[in-house]
Amino acid sequence: MEGKTSKLYAIVHAKCPHCRRGDIFTGSMYGFNIQHTKEVCAHCGQRIEIEPGYFYAAMYVSYAMNVIEMLIVSYITYLICGPLTDETFWNYLIVIFTGCFALYPFNYRYSRIILLHVLSPNIKYKPYYDR
Ligand SMILES: [Zn+2]
Repeated sequence: MEGKTSKLYAIVHAKCPHCRRGDIFTGSMYGFNIQHTKEVCAHCGQRIEIEPGYFYAAMYVSYAMNVIEMLIVSYITYLICGPLTDETFWNYLIVIFTGCFALYPFNYRYSRIILLHVLSPNIKYKPYYDR
């Protein structure tokens, strides 16, 4: 049989959790075409938004990602600018604000990928479609 697509590859490349071939999103993460989540996988026909409102849960994943990212960003700011004081306050604020803004497309995409690939036990990989 031909090689199967690994789960890691499917996660990194935003592939359908069912077949690991079809794209979950239209457009690119950072581009002029605003990315959208497809309703149905073009390769295997799996519904990507399994039920209406399914992606509300992705907001919680996205929130958790944001908290972790802001801790990392704050730590980097700390290494560069020193502790948070009245003088460095604006550095922290600008860095964190810019970080949130810059990471928004990344979080949008990966919160949904994590939801589909990791937190949805009822969506199973079907090697049959992975060709
Ligand atoms: Zn698919």
